[in-house]
Amino acid sequence: MNSAQNAPLSPKLTPNMGLKDRNTFGFEVSAELAYEISAANELPSLMADIQEKNLAWRVLGGGSNVILPASLPGATLLMNIAGQKILRVDEQNTYIAVGAGVNWHEFVSWTLEQNVPGLENLALIPGTVGAAPIQNIGAYGAEVADFIDSIEAFDTGAHAFVTLPKEACHFAYRDSYFKQHPQQYIVTKVAFKIPKIWAPRLHYADLAKQFIDSNTAPSAQDIFQAVCTIRTQKLPDPKVIGNAGSFFQNPVVPNTLFEALQKQFPEMVSYPDQSGMRKLAAGWLIDQCGFKGQTMGSVGVYQNQALVLVNHGGGTAKDILTLAQSIKDKVNKVFGVQLEIEPNIF
Ligand code: FAD
Ligand code: NAP
Repeated sequence: MNSAQNAPLSPKLTPNMGLKDRNTFGFEVSAELAYEISAANELPSLMADIQEKNLAWRVLGGGSNVILPASLPGATLLMNIAGQKILRVDEQNTYIAVGAGVNWHEFVSWTLEQNVPGLENLALIPGTVGAAPIQNIGAYGAEVADFIDSIEAFDTGAHAFVTLPKEACHFAYRDSYFKQHPQQYIVTKVAFKIPKIWAPRLHYADLAKQFIDSNTAPSAQDIFQAVCTIRTQKLPDPKVIGNAGSFFQNPVVPNTLFEALQKQFPEMVSYPDQSGMRKLAAGWLIDQCGFKGQTMGSVGVYQNQALVLVNHGGGTAKDILTLAQSIKDKVNKVFGVQLEIEPNIF
């Protein structure tokens, strides 16, 4: 992993780079100036230059949570910083530092090879380690914030590298300070603190079902395999069908609205939220409105999971956003609930 203290470097620049393979919707996208960032110390002079020229800019990890237009003007920073290292182990925790460009799933897999359990419920989430804190990725009752110690980032306003302790990241359900303040920080490294005391997290029905016939408690490796199996069956592989995972956030609604809805729709799927309010399963709401498996031109709603919008080939950001609007309108009309789009729209 390159440290911010090393001599400044210049990132590789490719003008008019095609990004079809760097966004999981598989949209045809051309980036005017694509910079491949492979070391943190490439950032200060690059950002000074971008800001001096007043160019539009954005960071891209694996492109699995973005909706990109056909043309990206200005600078696109492709986050490629590599490296992962166990820093130390004490009585309670294992401390690991990981470059922002490392593939998230490969990192999870590597931790298990190092006999460090904890991240297994988060297996097979696409994208980079640097993007994981942005929306505080989560799955099957675990979220990355549970394991973050601090974040190293380039502060684009102060033009300095900072180390942000976990408390400064304001992590919440699929949310963080970074998501609320886009472009203030470019994450370069994530420091993890993984507790040595481990217990399986099996409270999601799909996951628990995988071990129903087992007499022994599953290992972290067993859970990792089970999560990979379920996700492979339930979610479209972006290499085959373009998608960005869940397209809408699960709406969290006041209990009064939940109770009124439940009277009308007793089958409605919902769960208590950490906030004390009620989390509704957005996929269920969309399914009830009849969208599951429907197509609209080149795009559509995935047949196995109504929360996932897909690009069947040749679709564009405009197509997806038109479909999304018709889903939002119908869900609002039927349930009086406003859905919010999860991926970042550029
Ligand atoms: P990108 O899509 O490239 O970027 C996402 C946002 O983060 C953008 O705003 C970008 O500017 C910003 N960003 C990226 N890197 C940096 C950086 N280094 N510094 C500052 N900003 C940065 N998400 C979940 O939470 N749980 C899931 O279970 C899940 N499953 C998914 C399944 C599928 C099939 C797909 C396609 C997506 C899924 N996602 C899930 C969404 C997505 O994988 C995550 O949000 C992931 O963290 C995005 O990583 P990325 O590197 O692709 O980020
Ligand atoms: P699922 O298990 O069918 O559950 C549907 C929804 O109900 C999920 O969104 C989940 O909320 C919620 N849920 C289920 N059991 C719960 C419990 N015991 N306690 C609290 N909430 C519960 O969902 P799925 O679509 O197959 O996805 C499985 C997991 O992977 C979920 O955690 C989901 O968030 C995650 N995932 C995320 C994305 C993404 O792009 N964000 C894409 C695919 C899968 P939560 O979403 O809050 O967990």
